[in-house]
Amino acid sequence: MRFAVTARGDERSHMLKEQLEQALMERGSHRDTVTPEIVISIGGDGTMLQAFHSYLDQVEDITLVGIHTGHLGFYADWRPEEMGELIQHIADNNVATVEYPLLELSIDYADGSTNQLLALNECTIKSFNQTLVCDLSIRGEYFETFRGDGLCISTPSGSTAYNKALGGAIVHPALEAIQITEMASINNRVYRTIGSPMLLPKHHDVEIRPVNPIDFQLTYDHYASIVHQNVKSIRCRVSDKKVKFARFRSFPFWQRVRESFLAEERS
Ligand code: NAP
Repeated sequence: MRFAVTARGDERSHMLKEQLEQALMERGSHRDTVTPEIVISIGGDGTMLQAFHSYLDQVEDITLVGIHTGHLGFYADWRPEEMGELIQHIADNNVATVEYPLLELSIDYADGSTNQLLALNECTIKSFNQTLVCDLSIRGEYFETFRGDGLCISTPSGSTAYNKALGGAIVHPALEAIQITEMASINNRVYRTIGSPMLLPKHHDVEIRPVNPIDFQLTYDHYASIVHQNVKSIRCRVSDKKVKFARFRSFPFWQRVRESFLAEERS
């Protein structure tokens, strides 16, 4: 099997990477960082986001697996002690996968150009110091005018990240949906937004049109870019593409949620 290993910059992750590469090659797998079949990320969820974006153009051809060298992650859910088991599965070519939905972003600029991006966790649209004002349309129909700090549109697997900090719901990745959460919306007798996080199904999209001509920040996963006044609209929908994660053993999503946010062991 062709594999690539990416690692966080720390010494432990780097050391594990070397050990893993060596062991996989000894078991007949081939290191191929250009066209791998499996990409193993060592570090945390942030490292997995980087691995995902490094192989974005091949997203449907690769399988991702994450080993955590810090606390348990959502994408990095293998412990370094389990590496032997992982190596065995890869050597046996015994790779079962699970697919997660992705967020597709289409940005239209005033000059007619467009840009398409994919996110594993989310995108956010945030003002710097002025209030962000934007019109939201869902499935082509005007929904509301948002005024506030910003908006977050997340995938189900990203729902435990930024979205959670904004009070969004945790969504099981088997649901093909995107979630819209608000950041500090202004709500009074004059201005009104829905206030609640909203889940859109696969066949619905949300179009966000900035109303006031301010520079704002667009983030997607770990990337951030300053978007200038020439953005006409940002359309978000569930992508037709999916990302594949290796599932060598059962580790149910709700168990990961519990172990990450509540308690390690049942008392
Ligand atoms: P970072 O600021 O260094 O780390 C953000 C934290 O989010 C890390 O602890 C990371 O876990 C965790 N994380 C990433 N994806 C997650 C997921 N799907 N579920 C649960 N936790 C997750 O940035 P980064 O490592 O480059 O990651 C970028 C992500 O940071 C963004 O996609 C966004 O979701 C998140 N973020 C969150 C907030 C917030 O909660 N207020 C603000 C900005 C950005 P690891 O430690 O395992 O890497």
